[in-house]
Amino acid sequence: MAKRATIYTYPWDLSDEGIDRALETIADTAGLNSVSLAQSYHVSTYLLPRNPRRPLYWGEEGALYFQPSDTFYRESPIEPLISDVVTSPGYMPEIVDKIKTRGLDFTSWLVFNYNHHLPQRYPDAAKQDAFGHTNLAQLCPASPLTRDYALALCREIARQFEPDEFHLESLAYLHFNYGFRNPKIAVKITPLCEMLMGLCYCRHCLDRAGGAGIEDSGRFRDEIAEFLADELAREPNANDTQPLDPATMAKLFSGRLQVFIDTRIEAATSLMEQAVASALQSGARVSFFGGRDPISNGLDSDRALREVYMVNGGVDAITETMAANIAGQRGEFPSDTGFSAIVQASAFADAGAFAAYVSGLHEAGIDGFAFYNYGLLRRIHLEWIGAQRHAWS
Ligand SMILES: [Zn+2]
Repeated sequence: MAKRATIYTYPWDLSDEGIDRALETIADTAGLNSVSLAQSYHVSTYLLPRNPRRPLYWGEEGALYFQPSDTFYRESPIEPLISDVVTSPGYMPEIVDKIKTRGLDFTSWLVFNYNHHLPQRYPDAAKQDAFGHTNLAQLCPASPLTRDYALALCREIARQFEPDEFHLESLAYLHFNYGFRNPKIAVKITPLCEMLMGLCYCRHCLDRAGGAGIEDSGRFRDEIAEFLADELAREPNANDTQPLDPATMAKLFSGRLQVFIDTRIEAATSLMEQAVASALQSGARVSFFGGRDPISNGLDSDRALREVYMVNGGVDAITETMAANIAGQRGEFPSDTGFSAIVQASAFADAGAFAAYVSGLHEAGIDGFAFYNYGLLRRIHLEWIGAQRHAWS
């Protein structure tokens, strides 16, 4: 049976090149059977080595790449940025129609809480640090605005585009430094400081903590802020640069930190479950990409991935340990959830090294392939991919 072999693709890479020509390259040259098309995406700056219109593209601040319907605007409490590449209401429908007409599987690749535009416009949807400052790169999954927007987006995608698959990315809490721009960080901080700096202390997270038994959650946040102010000012020693151990963490802040972390797990995991349910209801499959750490991301994999058929993730390039690496990652998922390798062909020295890696994945029993990424690769890399199609065909 053919495995899903998809390629992450930005809509502008298809429309700049010519949709038909680009899809021919994906299907025939690269031999792939699926396109994972970005429809909601975060900021990046892109070097596009064979794009006929723009070898360098300055991306936008976290935008949708289609025109939502009136129904969406009625349902969503948030009005997202619509990208300038969407030159007409028919822009995205034409791309999706052509993917389907070509017989390729269509995945809607959706980035949720990693967004630089929305925190400025909707601070009540954004993550907040312990000092009361808005995180300008991340939305908080405990905020009703964020939650209602995410679910409205899933329903809109299902209505407009009827994808075969939803690929959910960053639908959780995000790590401390996710979305930093040109960071200026000159000192080391301890893992505990990094963890505490990465948690969200917005009013919705504090309300949930209050409901879970942290009596004065505002006071709890202030204590964390005071602790951080002292700790950040001092040089770490060898002891406190060790990874956090759960037993020690459970005792911190009189046990309240653990309660707080548990409320975050409920907030993020329940949103993921709702989004997955919405996607499944439309008849689509669901796949996932992103951090799954219960502390920093707030995800309980057993619940969040229970109905997720595939996780896309990186696999170590050392052939001898590849099978163990895949088994180790898979062991963290529910038993029915498969694992696809994200593979960037341009990271390999030559066609031979790339072929050996793909063969290794195939022999180790990988469930699918997710190549990264159509517009970022040279044609030669797409040819290397095509030469390995026996691994999924
Ligand atoms: Zn929050």
